[in-house]
Amino acid sequence: MKTTSSIFLSICVFLGSFVFAQKETSHLQNIIKEAQENSQLESLAQELLDGIGPRLVGTPQMKNAHDWAVSKYQQWGIEARNEPFGTWRGWERGLSHMDMLEPRVQSLRGTQLAWSPSTSKKGVTAEVITLPKVAHPEEFKAWLPNVKGKIVLISRMEPTGRPDYNWEKYATKESFEKMKTERDSLYNHWSENMENTGYNSRSIIEVLENAGAVGLISSYWSRGFGTNKIFSARTKKIPTVSLELEDYTLVYRLAARGQKPVVNITALSKELGEVPTFNTIGEIRGSEKPEEYVLLSAHFDSWDGGTGATDNGTGSLVMMETMRVLKKMYPNPKRTIIVGHWGSEEQGLNGSRAFVEDHPEIVANIQAVFNQDNGTGRVVNLSGQGFLHSYEYLGRWLHSVPNEVSKHIQTNFPGTPGGGGSDYASFVAAGAPAFNLSSLDWSYRDYTWHTNRDTYDKLIFDDIRNNVILTAVLTYMASEDPERSSREKSVLPVSKRTGKQMTWPAQRNPNRKGGMR
Ligand SMILES: [Zn+2]
Repeated sequence: MKTTSSIFLSICVFLGSFVFAQKETSHLQNIIKEAQENSQLESLAQELLDGIGPRLVGTPQMKNAHDWAVSKYQQWGIEARNEPFGTWRGWERGLSHMDMLEPRVQSLRGTQLAWSPSTSKKGVTAEVITLPKVAHPEEFKAWLPNVKGKIVLISRMEPTGRPDYNWEKYATKESFEKMKTERDSLYNHWSENMENTGYNSRSIIEVLENAGAVGLISSYWSRGFGTNKIFSARTKKIPTVSLELEDYTLVYRLAARGQKPVVNITALSKELGEVPTFNTIGEIRGSEKPEEYVLLSAHFDSWDGGTGATDNGTGSLVMMETMRVLKKMYPNPKRTIIVGHWGSEEQGLNGSRAFVEDHPEIVANIQAVFNQDNGTGRVVNLSGQGFLHSYEYLGRWLHSVPNEVSKHIQTNFPGTPGGGGSDYASFVAAGAPAFNLSSLDWSYRDYTWHTNRDTYDKLIFDDIRNNVILTAVLTYMASEDPERSSREKSVLPVSKRTGKQMTWPAQRNPNRKGGMR
């Protein structure tokens, strides 16, 4: 009898898992087919990046993006809302242009830095000067009255606008080495001279402003052709603009050689007071375990030198499109699927840190977080973030991902917990199993990350589609898993850098009132 019943039981288990496997196969097939054959990525990208544009925290465009996402989710039948988590200095770009008037007329390619004070309609017109070579702070102090009524160049001069890979390809070995040596010495002289003024590149700004400068020009080359990093201004009353390397060095050489360049800066931004900041949260309610969560994560905000296409338009699009596909092909998930489009990641993971702080009940019941935030490339790295058993469940989920997608991914288990860099870290710090879907580079660091060139034309839609399939399958598998994922932390190794045993990153507070002066 015993033998018969155990055979019967085995058959039932076999049939049961067969039925589950069949259901799983058909769900996964439908999900993959929808992502491949009915992709909405191009039109979503166009509406977000071209229509709404960059998404700097505190700007009306950021709010427009949040509203747009909510309305997209509602069109797809997904519940969504904008959750306020604080306030930020409200600011909006206006018309801006920079033109050289002397010794000849030339329009200059540049960008007003974020939150830079505006100019009057006519702008400011003034001679442009460089910082002086000085031996000690007294010498700088004696020179300082010269800045009155002038526009000051505050960044170092780059000796070449060609990226190193270009030199490496065409220069003679000797010539490339010579350039690098000269460049290093130029950088060193710049730093030494800055020290000699008694200030650093940050503290000198207030000094120049208080001494009567009427505008500052900076240039932060991103080491690619035509690329500059565009961050925020530190001036309180006068405009700060960034000029692209080519034009910055042009004006710099003219000023340094006594040819007295005169430039007009017109920058008509608006101050909008203190405005609320948001996360957009969308949700597909779980049918069996609604109090357990799979969370899709990507920051929605960006710097605004470009349109934030790869940082983090692409991650945002992956998560939106994944939600659309899942709602259509897997409308009754076992666990609740949440998407978080965070605000103000760029100023310190503020949106996700606020969510973790505001929703401890969700964070305690997270099955998995999947975050994406480093560009348009297909996912090539996945770390277990220090969760001891991540290999077991992530490995199992990955097994259901089509080989064309999973074959690119190098895994690292258990890995070490990320302490920052993107929003998964906010969840890891709270002990929730959160993972970062890390992309192939596609020249992200030099060409698009926080640059004036982070725009729609850089998107690689086949790779983004690849990432949608990956995220959708992982989410499905995490949602359907019969087991809760383990949160057990591994014993962390000794850091090579400090020689001490690493500790788990601590949860940090968000900035809920940012940028106000
Ligand atoms: Zn980012």
